[in-house]
Amino acid sequence: MLSCKHLVEQASDYIDDEMTMGKRIQVKLHLFVCVSCRRYLKQLKLTIAMMSRKNHHEAPEAMCHHLLKEYQKTLPKQGS
Ligand SMILES: [Zn+2]
Repeated sequence: MLSCKHLVEQASDYIDDEMTMGKRIQVKLHLFVCVSCRRYLKQLKLTIAMMSRKNHHEAPEAMCHHLLKEYQKTLPKQGS
């Protein structure tokens, strides 16, 4: 099972469809059981969609990092 940290690291690949089928399945499985990551991914997608509408294909790096920090605050402490 993927950890939340791993999922977040791979979230942009998942959204961009740059992922092997095996990995996608792992991500989907994690999303199935993890509400916070579902919420994070949804937010990330919205942000990317919003940004790319504004100025074509510039990756909203700063925004991603901001979201990531906000998100990490909401994560429960967990052992790896
Ligand atoms: Zn998670």
